[in-house]
Amino acid sequence: MITVDDALALLFALAKPLGTERVSLLDGAGRVLAEPVVAERDQPPFPASAMDGYAVAEARPGDRLTVIGESAAGARFDGAVGAGQAVRIFTGAPVPPGATRIVIQEDVTRDGDTIVIGAALDTAGYIRPAGNDFCKGARVEAGRILTASDIALIASMNLPEITVARRPNVALISTGDELVMPGDALGPDQIIASNTFGLHALLTALGARPRLLPIARDNAASLKTCFDLASGADLVITVGGASVGDHDLVAPVAAELGMEQAFHKVAMRPGKPLMSGRIGSAMMIGLPGNPVSAMVCGHVFVAPVIRALLGLPAEPAPRQEAPLAAPITANGTREHYMRARLDDSGLTVFDRQDSSLLSVLGAANALVVRPVGDPPRAAGETMSYLPL
Ligand code: AMP
Ligand code: MG
Repeated sequence: MITVDDALALLFALAKPLGTERVSLLDGAGRVLAEPVVAERDQPPFPASAMDGYAVAEARPGDRLTVIGESAAGARFDGAVGAGQAVRIFTGAPVPPGATRIVIQEDVTRDGDTIVIGAALDTAGYIRPAGNDFCKGARVEAGRILTASDIALIASMNLPEITVARRPNVALISTGDELVMPGDALGPDQIIASNTFGLHALLTALGARPRLLPIARDNAASLKTCFDLASGADLVITVGGASVGDHDLVAPVAAELGMEQAFHKVAMRPGKPLMSGRIGSAMMIGLPGNPVSAMVCGHVFVAPVIRALLGLPAEPAPRQEAPLAAPITANGTREHYMRARLDDSGLTVFDRQDSSLLSVLGAANALVVRPVGDPPRAAGETMSYLPL
């Protein structure tokens, strides 16, 4: 049995970034930028008006100025503005040469081609200099997960296509004679395959492309068929059948198919029977079958692996800290990820931690991390947790 940290290190050694692809900027949200983006022009490319009003060389309260033309967004005034003159101007329009400021329209009275500057003239200039937002050569650096804001910025840099990390193709295999897909006909001894659905959701949110395969039955032939169907995947995830019971066939069948196993058991709760290795060109992770174990291992191991495959830093799932709302007893010899609820009063660790209880996982918004041998903890003590 190895530690969680050692298991993660072995997983990262197996998880090499998958390369890049070009996509339309419209498909870029949520993707990992793989090459820096460099602005092709200044924004704004010219000094631009920030308001509707008049571009003037100078203005004092009471001045009378002659309006000599108009500058609109997309249609500049072809000329300069001098003393005693004004150019009608609108937000986003190029400011004509000679203008030092914009007088907002609320501060003038207009009569034909003449404006009179009002007594309450303010002092702001209302001119956005060229390059005010960014200049040619400005960069969005690689290695970030693109947000809607990034997409807007890159669009304004005039780049309709970007280079992003290829999304990992992940095959998900449930194993078990007792399992039925949600909605299918059920026998009295059967339960629903839930884990692969939860993992599918987790993987999608992480930016992977998960694919749900048929349920493998507890015989070698069925499991081999599913491994065959998984061909082409970058990562094959099996769920269940990972212990050493009579019906636990994942390790022997994977070995028969040539898997080089990196490890099999991890000292953690929930989730001890976890395995990983390489099988052909794919990475393989065998998750435990108990639903909460599978999901916790999804957060603790699969999520960091997906990030590494996307070229993001190979790091454990990010942790935060909060005080305990109520005391908890000492931990044992395995790192324990305890379902808990974080609210204004702090972290409340649930009493029931059995790894079959998805309802308790559903009520949790945090996994409190207990190191091996962690002593009893009192209310108010600070604990690390993984946000869910
Ligand atoms: P196993 O590791 O195959 O012995 O499974 C451990 C427990 O998890 C058993 O109670 C299984 O019925 C249950 N289980 C295994 N796979 C799944 C799955 N995909 N969805 C829900 N429960 C599962
Ligand atoms: Mg099973």
